[in-house]
Amino acid sequence: AFDVLVVGGGPAGAAAAIYAARKGIRTGIAAERFGGQVLDTMAIENFISVQHTEGPKLAAQLEQHVKDYDVDIMNLQRAEKLIPAKVPGGLHEVRLENGASLKARTVILSTGARWRQMNVPGEDAYRNKGVAYCPHCDGPLYKGKRVAVIGGGNSGVEAAIDLAGIVAHVTLIEFDSQLRADAVLQRKLYSLKNVTVITSALTTEVHGDGEKVIGLTYRDRNADSSHLVELEGIFVQIGLVPNTEWLTDSVALSARGEIEIDHRGHTSIEGVFAAGDVTTVPYKQIVIAMGEGSKAALSAFDYLIRLAPM
Ligand code: FAD
Repeated sequence: AFDVLVVGGGPAGAAAAIYAARKGIRTGIAAERFGGQVLDTMAIENFISVQHTEGPKLAAQLEQHVKDYDVDIMNLQRAEKLIPAKVPGGLHEVRLENGASLKARTVILSTGARWRQMNVPGEDAYRNKGVAYCPHCDGPLYKGKRVAVIGGGNSGVEAAIDLAGIVAHVTLIEFDSQLRADAVLQRKLYSLKNVTVITSALTTEVHGDGEKVIGLTYRDRNADSSHLVELEGIFVQIGLVPNTEWLTDSVALSARGEIEIDHRGHTSIEGVFAAGDVTTVPYKQIVIAMGEGSKAALSAFDYLIRLAPM
């Protein structure tokens, strides 16, 4: 059995595995796709102390760093069930889709999240070429340009306010007949001169010139007419979905499906910790996920040294 079993191999899981292994304890990491969301990213310019890197490069470095330690890496393995220990201090079990079952005294859940997509023509082809999901990450790349934000919930309106301070113009597109963001955010949004809000609108296509985004088409749901907006960037803000479908019957989740953690990364189950985008931690970023993963591993170690010797 492992002392620490990490489930998920993104920045949070890699950091957790390294911090655990450096304590000289038996550490394993199972991941469906080592690297996580970082693999889908191109330019990364806010990974502090590294001025510029690219997603696939950082993902390879994450894996190499973990491999420098005595960590049992199980890549391309999807976890499908967590069975908590029957007694305090007992072994937790993680069942994999391939039928295998892993046992561990502590488990660190770091299965991340995924951005909900528009699923319209052009979105896939122009991802990272104008189609973006993270204003904190990619906002500055659109300085002085025209962008759209898709989604009028809190995250969409926050993104529009944020981007309005950087870009030339923001068009916010909301499917519903009204924005769903908090009133205080809406007041702020409507006070901005370089923002246009379009409601009752469904984005139907992303247009590009073969290399980058040049516009989008939306359908006015009231008039049933189509309109083209010329722009350079599209920020899709229609939801970040935590990868917790496999945990609904084991660990306490928030209303949004995120794993509830305290400031030390404890979950509702003793000996089970969580870190990164899959949790209730605010702000989903690489540096934050790494810090959270490190913290969860140290919390797991603190827990282990207090257990009765096995
Ligand atoms: P993830 O990276 O999501 O990793 C989750 C891991 O868990 C993966 O290995 C996955 O395969 C695995 N997994 C999921 N389900 C299971 C399962 N059931 N069983 C086993 N394994 C499972 N952040 C920045 O700081 N700067 C940026 O410039 C930036 N740009 C981004 C651009 C894009 C396009 C995207 C999508 C995100 C970007 N982010 C950026 C956000 C950043 O990538 C995430 O905050 C970060 O990757 C979260 O790390 P994580 O380890 O918590 O989760």
